[in-house]
Order: sequence, then structure tokens, then C-alpha cells
Amino acid sequence: MSNAPCHTGMVYLVGAGPGDPGLITLKGVECLQRAQVVVYDYLANEQLLAHAPDDAELIYAGKIGGRHNQDQEEINRLLVEKGREGKVVVRLKGGDPFVFGRGGEECEALSEAGIPFRIVPGVTAALGAAAYSGIPLTHRNFTTSVAFVTGHEGKDKSESAIDWDRLSLGNGTVVFYMGITTLRSNMERLLRHGRSPRTPVALVRWGTAPTQQVLTGTLADIADRAEAIGFKPPAVTIVGEVVGLRDKLAWFDNRPLFGRKILVTRAADQAGEFAAMLADRGAVVLECPTIKLVDPESWEPLDAAIRGIGGYDWLVLTSVNGVRRFFQRLAALGLDARALGTCRVCAVGPKTAEAIRAFGISPDLVPSDYKAEGVVAEFGKLAMSGARVLFPRADKAREVIPCELKRMGARIDSPVAYCNVMPDRLPPEALFALEKRTVDCITFTSSSTVHNLARMLGSDLLVDMLKGVAVASIGAITSKTCRELGLKVDIEPARSTLECLTEEIERHFHSPR
Ligand code: SAH
Repeated sequence: MSNAPCHTGMVYLVGAGPGDPGLITLKGVECLQRAQVVVYDYLANEQLLAHAPDDAELIYAGKIGGRHNQDQEEINRLLVEKGREGKVVVRLKGGDPFVFGRGGEECEALSEAGIPFRIVPGVTAALGAAAYSGIPLTHRNFTTSVAFVTGHEGKDKSESAIDWDRLSLGNGTVVFYMGITTLRSNMERLLRHGRSPRTPVALVRWGTAPTQQVLTGTLADIADRAEAIGFKPPAVTIVGEVVGLRDKLAWFDNRPLFGRKILVTRAADQAGEFAAMLADRGAVVLECPTIKLVDPESWEPLDAAIRGIGGYDWLVLTSVNGVRRFFQRLAALGLDARALGTCRVCAVGPKTAEAIRAFGISPDLVPSDYKAEGVVAEFGKLAMSGARVLFPRADKAREVIPCELKRMGARIDSPVAYCNVMPDRLPPEALFALEKRTVDCITFTSSSTVHNLARMLGSDLLVDMLKGVAVASIGAITSKTCRELGLKVDIEPARSTLECLTEEIERHFHSPR
């Protein structure tokens, strides 16, 4: 009896791109979405694994220098084995599979074993690093050619397979891969074979990632400069006059928050938009949710109020979550926005207003001061005596609105629409960054984000861990909570919106300290 499976699998060699997870191809993502097995590299961004189905088998084939050949044979064997099992296998490789990626060898092994394969190219490190450091690899005024060269054979080989004469003459751009430990000897070879010592050189480490690091110099001095700061792999070395264009064309690593590590403490389902704004300015964002939003123990109080919504004069909503939960319950009761009838709607600020508009309702009132006090001030200008107000709120909301409206003679109902609870634990990456003191800034967007972090870490540890970390608070009330817990607030915008907070963080890191 034959051991052959009834169907063979398929192995996709997929280029993951150089680091930025947005640089994988559509085809690459489609392969990942279908994968049953993913064999991924040290250089492939792990975030890409999120495209794979939850039940896919993920195998790390990390190779960090050293035992390359042995590892490579093991990887080849693994791909053949999984292919034989009839699996859809994605071999996810950093950059492009066929540029210094040993993709050729893997395909040879598959071909010999009769396992079908497909190849999906990727953005190779040279192209990614060049684009994200503002260095066009060719330019009509400087050079018409570019060579990708391994930098790895330089030091020990007595006979080089590289044609150093041709590489050194003329003005073609040269990009070395794997050439940091051998940087000095590679630069010396180019000099010896005739390149000008004044030729500009750039080293680009972790190109396209938020941690990208670029060091520039000349053929004569780049090795000294790299040594002086202990420049480490993985990096490409770009040699040529085009490197000079970076002075004008840098766009990625000169963004205002580039490389700043910022901890965002919002609830996980609210953090995305804020994190995106910070990341867009170059920050390395670590999400560290200190709040989890959960349903109230009972919907009954809110449901009862919603059933009688027609009898209210005002509906007051003070958070996007409140809005979502209110309309969710409205729908659950078989109702829609028409149930509000003549009930007017107040939103605490522009974000809440936007969320309300998404349900087809234009808020009648948005205070200019986006907090409870602002809402109270606006109602203070109206005749509220005897008015019926519905205020669906968070379980731990401040009492400002109910208290003040009652004083104005309004009849207010404030059923709980959602509860803020503390998550079970902090994400390990966030905790690690705090412990290692690599965090530049921490953001608090409500008092509960501060309180919960203090409770999860302990107040003393909180103060200790945040020494030297810029504390950014959304507004006066959150800042007060910070101070009560022993923190010094460094950043507070005049207006309590995420946009203004982001701008203020930018200003803080841009102004000379
Ligand atoms: N197949 C990969 C290259 C693998 S060889 C590709 O096409 O990019 C490994 C070398 O690639 C590293 O030593 C380094 O020189 C380069 N490299 C890979 N990712 C890089 C990155 N994000 N930034 C700079 N260099 C990178």
C-alpha cells in the first residue's frame, strides 16, 4: 500500500515585505487567510500572522545568524512534510522570497519532492529601506543603475565572488544586504577598487518599521561612525550619490513623534482611533487597556426608560459608548430613532455628536466646553424646571450632571448603560516597556484609566515606573486624578478631544526641553 496522501498540499512562498505590515501584497494576505500552516521568519513582521485563521498552525523558523545551513535543511524538510500532509502552507519570508531569502533553495526542495508551490513576491529590504529613508535608488542626475549585493562574504573569503572592480567603478548605487558586521571591509574594498572616499553612504536598520534607524556618512568614515554608536544588524548599506537626496526627501523618520514610545491606556475597543493618530505621526504605540467595558448587571432600568422615551424632554449622552449602548437597547426593544419623537438630544462633545448622527439624529445641543460642567452650563441657560431628562451613563460616572440638573428643578433618570471594569491584567509588552524604562509618554483619557492603572500596579510602583515618562492627560479632571495619585502632568490640551491631545503631545516632544 502506498503512503501517498489522496491529495497534495500547496506551499506558498510569500514575501512579507520589510517590516511595515502594510507592505505585504494583496495576494500575500489572501494566501495567509487560507493558510493551515504558516512557517515564518525572524524578519517577517509577526503582526501579519493575524491574517491567518485562528486555528492555523504557526511555526517560527527564526534564524538569527549562525547555524544557517542546518536550519535551512530543517525548514526545507518541514515544508515538504507539511505539503505531503496535504496542507495549505504559507512560508512567510521577510522582504522578497527570491532576494537573499533562500527561497530558491526551498523551491528546489519542494520541486524535488513533487510538492506544488507558488511564489508571491514582496517588497525587498533595499526598496523598503530606500523609500522610507528618502533615498531614490536611481535618479537621472546621479545614477542609472543599482546593484543588490551580499555583504556577507567580505571578511573571510580569500577569493571573492563579487566583481569589486565593476561595482566600484562608475556611479551605480550599491545596496549591501547582511553587511553590518563586515561593513569596514566592504567599504575598504570599494575604496581600493576606485570609488571616491567622499561617496555618501547610508545604513538603514529595521527599514520601514517605527524603529527605523538611519546613519549617514561617507565611504571613508561610515565604518567609524557605525562602530562609535554600536550600529547593529539587520540593516542595508546604501552607497552612492543618491544618498545625498535624503536631506531633502526624508519623510518617514522626521515626523514629529517618530520613534517615541507612547502607552495608550484607553479601553481596547476605543483605543484604535487614537493609536492611529499617534502612529500616523511616527509614534510607536503600545496599547495598554486599563478599562474593560461590560454590560450592566441588568438592562431593565435603561429598557424601562427607553420604553417611555417619548415622555422625556431631553436625552443627554456623554460618551460614544453611551450612544452605542442606548441605540443598541432601542433596537433590542424593536424600536428605532423615531421613538425619540420630540425629545431633544444633548451630546457632550463632537465625537459623541458624530456617533449620534450615525443613527440619523442631529443633536440639538453640544456645549463648547466638552465635559459635564459644559453640559450643565448650557442647561443653565434654559428653563429646566420640571423638564424630564434621561441620562444613560457609565456605572462610575461623576454625579455632576444629575446633581446640577436636579438643582435646576429637572427630573432626571440616570440608568446605567455600561460598566467600566478593570481588566484582569496588563499586556506583557506594555509592562515590559514600563519596567525597562523605554516609554516616552503615557496617555490618560479619563480618570478611570488613571485609577485602574494605579490599582493594577499599586500607587508606589505607578509613580516609580512613570518617573521620566511624560504624562499626557485629556483634561482638567483627569489631570486632577493624576496629581492625587502622585503624578506630574506634563501635557494637557486646552480642549478635551483626542485630536487636541495628540497635537499637544506633538508640541511637547517638538519643543526644546
Ligand atoms: N529576503 C529578504 C532579505 C533577507 S537577507 C529581503 O528581500 O529583504 C537578510 C538581510 O536583509 C539583513 O541582513 C538585512 O541586510 C536585510 N534586511 C531585511 N529586513 C530589513 C529591514 N527591515 N531593514 C533593513 N535591512 C533589512
